[in-house]
Amino acid sequence: MDQALPISETIPGVPPRRTFAIISHPDAGKTTLTEKLLLFGGAIREAGMVKARQDRRQTRSDWMKIERQRGISVTSSVMTFEFGGAVFNLLDTPGHEDFSEDTYRTLTAVDSAVMVIDAAKGIELQTKKLFEVCRLRNIPITTFINKVDREGQNPFELLDEIADTLALDICPMVWPIGMGGLFKGCYDLRNDKLVSARKPGEDAAPHDFAIPADQKAQLDEDVELIRAAFPAFDQQSYAEGHLTPVYFGSALKDFSVRELLEGLVANAPPPQPRESDTRVVEPGETPVTGFVFKVQANMDPQHRDRIAFTRICSGKFTRGMKLTHSRTGKPMAIQAPIFFFAQDRSLAEEAYPGDIIGIPNHGTLRVGDTLTEGEKLRFTGIPDFAPEILRRVRLADPMKAKQMKKALEDLAEEGVTQVFRPMNGSDWIIGVVGALQLDVLASRIEQEYNVPIAFEPAPFDTARWIFSEDTARLKFFIEVNKSAMSEDREGSPVYMVRNSWELNRMKENFPELTFSATRERR
Ligand code: GDP
Repeated sequence: MDQALPISETIPGVPPRRTFAIISHPDAGKTTLTEKLLLFGGAIREAGMVKARQDRRQTRSDWMKIERQRGISVTSSVMTFEFGGAVFNLLDTPGHEDFSEDTYRTLTAVDSAVMVIDAAKGIELQTKKLFEVCRLRNIPITTFINKVDREGQNPFELLDEIADTLALDICPMVWPIGMGGLFKGCYDLRNDKLVSARKPGEDAAPHDFAIPADQKAQLDEDVELIRAAFPAFDQQSYAEGHLTPVYFGSALKDFSVRELLEGLVANAPPPQPRESDTRVVEPGETPVTGFVFKVQANMDPQHRDRIAFTRICSGKFTRGMKLTHSRTGKPMAIQAPIFFFAQDRSLAEEAYPGDIIGIPNHGTLRVGDTLTEGEKLRFTGIPDFAPEILRRVRLADPMKAKQMKKALEDLAEEGVTQVFRPMNGSDWIIGVVGALQLDVLASRIEQEYNVPIAFEPAPFDTARWIFSEDTARLKFFIEVNKSAMSEDREGSPVYMVRNSWELNRMKENFPELTFSATRERR
């Protein structure tokens, strides 16, 4: 390893953790880069295995067909690998916008993000949306401008676009020498070296390569311009989310993948302190704490398992430990926690802050739940989002009402959908953020619970959680709007909104009430 590890690591003697996600617009190259990171980390042996793994999973359950048919990835998973003396936990996020809710929650569990941009396309819609979430949470961003082996936009223009669109300071780390047909390799601006493609396992010393004289002159000019126009890398500014280091490269052809990893080892933040309802929890504290950011049911339909993906926030976790489930106050012995690798899982004997363990359970653990060694606290900042699509649920077979209830409740806990029970007793309403979620929902209910189900339009546009200090006024609002009121999974009152005009009128008439588009999980 050619770079020293940062000094402020969490627990002495334990390899540093880098827990991060890749954000991008579909097709920018997230899957390809993920695969290369795993390859360099020795977690897989040949390219093509990430897709192969997905294929294997897809054959297991039918709803995965949707994923295959539409060529998108709909489930987040965790992949652990090592590089340069650090343990990386890569949290995969679905790229399709319909699954942004899942993505938002995954981003609550990372310490930094890598933003992949297609050099020909620049910043695209989904990149921007995901970036905004990172900014809201002060997540530091490293930028990888991909596909420089193809014709792309001028690199300086790309940097301007990032700076202007995202209001970020830029620090180029690796620069492309030519693009498309003229692409020759990259230049490491930090170490003043030419870098050619470096395959995993190859000598870390970059080898020189020949550049035609005119391209060499252009490179010299570019480097001079970069030095004059951009600030030097500033660790603090990056850590605070104001500055992004930028790597130009090609995931497909192995350019700058190693440099990116080295940069993450050297600069990306170690596990960060987390806010809770009572205090800030430091990763170096001895007692174990963690929170659930994702629940996935039926990963293996044979076992009907339900895995709660839990981020360790402090302490040293050991298998068999008893943790207190802070929502219910009940102790849970964690006997079979799981680590996830690119291709398989293993029992997690020990886990440290920044690590993600999967806890098999039968529905006790929900998204947003906190686990501690007894201290009463709850990690905050894991929201539900107001659904943008609402449907009434019609049951084809009334004998299956109980199974349907179970299915909807399970899938609501997983975050695939939200369920609303109208206060006037009419059919349940489900809410999703994107249309594709409806297909997944129907298909999974049919496959996994054997309940044929249909969705009918509901006369509502969206929903708002309502809160007020003034309980009398809140009660009055609920009374007069009974036909538009529902309860969510937790029993909180939700106002179903017919249109924005109506919502605005209600806000004017009831200024003591808050109409919220998000709700913190309790
Ligand atoms: P995702 O949707 O962001 O996961 O994108 P993929 O990784 O599936 O890549 C989309 C397409 O771009 C695929 O056909 C890749 O082979 C291609 N691709 C990814 N990275 C590169 C690259 O660095 N250079 C070139 N030329 N193509 C790439």
